[in-house]
Amino acid sequence: MQADSTPDRALLVHERLLAHYGRRPLKPQQAPLDELIQTILSQNTSDLNSGRAFASLREAFPSWEAVAEADVEAVAHAIRSGGLARIKAPRIQQIIRHLIQERGEPSLDWLHGLAVEEARAYLTSLPGVGPKTAACVLLFSLHMPAMPVDTHVHRVAQRLGLLGPRINAERAHTLLEGLLPQDLYYSFHLLMIEHGRTLCHAQRPRCSGCPLLDICPHGLAATREQ
Ligand code: SF4
Repeated sequence: MQADSTPDRALLVHERLLAHYGRRPLKPQQAPLDELIQTILSQNTSDLNSGRAFASLREAFPSWEAVAEADVEAVAHAIRSGGLARIKAPRIQQIIRHLIQERGEPSLDWLHGLAVEEARAYLTSLPGVGPKTAACVLLFSLHMPAMPVDTHVHRVAQRLGLLGPRINAERAHTLLEGLLPQDLYYSFHLLMIEHGRTLCHAQRPRCSGCPLLDICPHGLAATREQ
């Protein structure tokens, strides 16, 4: 495939990464509120730590209502393995309380009935929910077309020239979504994360063994200097 335009290049990146890493396993689907809370817990920490924090939160409280009514210190204690517990605990409680007050129950299941942009607008209106967290809920739980741009996706996309150097996270979501067909969002997201973790590290990317080297401006410049 030729990569004459940025969308062509994005498609080629997907094709090459798929050939290199194979189809990545989808994340287990869970209720949208669970996905939202798990994603908040994952901010600035590893999947392992946030998974532990989420399991501990579910174990400590019998329901989301109980989390909303609990002392904030008790919630922070339950999620301490995920880091930033004093910030995340009140944020989680605020969201659950807001849903109970507004909808009568702590649930986001009703988002299933909305168009993707309406669901995104609602999610990003909640406290502490930015474009990446919203996109995770849309894609992983609601299976709507949205592209979460985390630190790996952002870095790899910039190095490949799919995003300009000064594009912030918010714009990155819109721009990357515009480059690919919707049915590739999930696969592209997972493959870019795999690539960021495996070869295209933040420090010292392993460009010489990269299947994208010949189409990567950053990698070509870096290997020319060696
Ligand atoms: S060539 Fe290097 S910088 Fe470019 S995508 Fe591959 S590992 Fe990343």
